[in-house]
Amino acid sequence: MPIRQLPDTLINQIAAGEVVERPASVVKELVENALDAGAHRVEIDLEEGGIRLIRVRDDGGGIPADELPLAISRHATSKIASLDDLEAVATLGFRGEALPSIASVSRFMLASRHTDSDHGAALQVDGGRVGSVTPKAHPTGTTVEVRDLFYNVPARRKFMRAERTEMGHIEEWLRSLALARLDVELRVSHNGRPARRYRGDNMLASTDRLFETLGEEFAKHALRVDHEAAGLRLHGWIAQPVYNRASADQQYLYVNGRSVRDRSVAHAVKQAYSDVLFHGRQPAYVLFLEVDPRTVDVNVHPAKHEVRFRESRLVHDFTYRTLQQALAETRAGMAADVAP
Ligand code: ADP
Ligand code: MG
Repeated sequence: MPIRQLPDTLINQIAAGEVVERPASVVKELVENALDAGAHRVEIDLEEGGIRLIRVRDDGGGIPADELPLAISRHATSKIASLDDLEAVATLGFRGEALPSIASVSRFMLASRHTDSDHGAALQVDGGRVGSVTPKAHPTGTTVEVRDLFYNVPARRKFMRAERTEMGHIEEWLRSLALARLDVELRVSHNGRPARRYRGDNMLASTDRLFETLGEEFAKHALRVDHEAAGLRLHGWIAQPVYNRASADQQYLYVNGRSVRDRSVAHAVKQAYSDVLFHGRQPAYVLFLEVDPRTVDVNVHPAKHEVRFRESRLVHDFTYRTLQQALAETRAGMAADVAP
């Protein structure tokens, strides 16, 4: 075969393979866009675990009607404009590929009204075929509707699981979001019924949110951590060793507000607990690591599940020492409690 340029739709479908693994990835990308747009309230309507429908509505800044086609164009973003911006990026998105990817593998609708506009507009895309922008009544903010995910990619559709499994992945991701953004109200409905609601409230005691998301036992045994050194800050909660898990299901790590998996940090936490946990048991934690954005690369993977630290050793040791200290203090405290 001769070398040829692939059509845009196919390029987007290939990219979708990396960005969109399952309905939960769509929910993640859409809600992150809502947060980047400054939303205070996000409504998520799902049908059949998101397989049939994912609709995300927000009250953020919206998109001007004439920019709707750009929003679904590949490598088009309002979040960065230069390499300098990329190196200091503070938004969750920046690659400009989520919407075009999702729109290429679903029946897709984007409706929005920008804060500076009196009118809303909408744009329909069907499996990558883009319609024209039409007027549509819409409050300030944005709605994205994704129907029949992977309907045109049978190979991917096959990999979607039962409604309950997909719903479980969505709920897990929402928990991790709810822990990070106490200020945002999240409402979820599933098959027409209210399924979950996280109140958005800056005044909400963070321990209430811990209780809501991770349960009473975690909240009861949570130790507050907050330590700063060498330009790094680690804060959040770790569970006292008496509260531990059979699996790593309650380990939440955020780097500059972004939920990530990081082997080095996970190892540091594990090491800090090594003297106080039985072999094979897992610690539970919700930890926020704040670092200078210039010392961490967030552009490692299209789905942004991972980051790369410039000084990984420093981050590891800082995490280890902070948690080891916190755990040592409670042990000392508990010993003092039982002393005569
Ligand atoms: P990225 O988030 O990486 O910029 P996306 O494909 O997710 O790429 O979105 C493309 C662009 O569309 C964004 O940069 C933003 O300008 C606009 N956009 C997407 N979703 C929303 C939203 N909910 N509210 C406002 N603007 C949005
Ligand atoms: Mg995005």
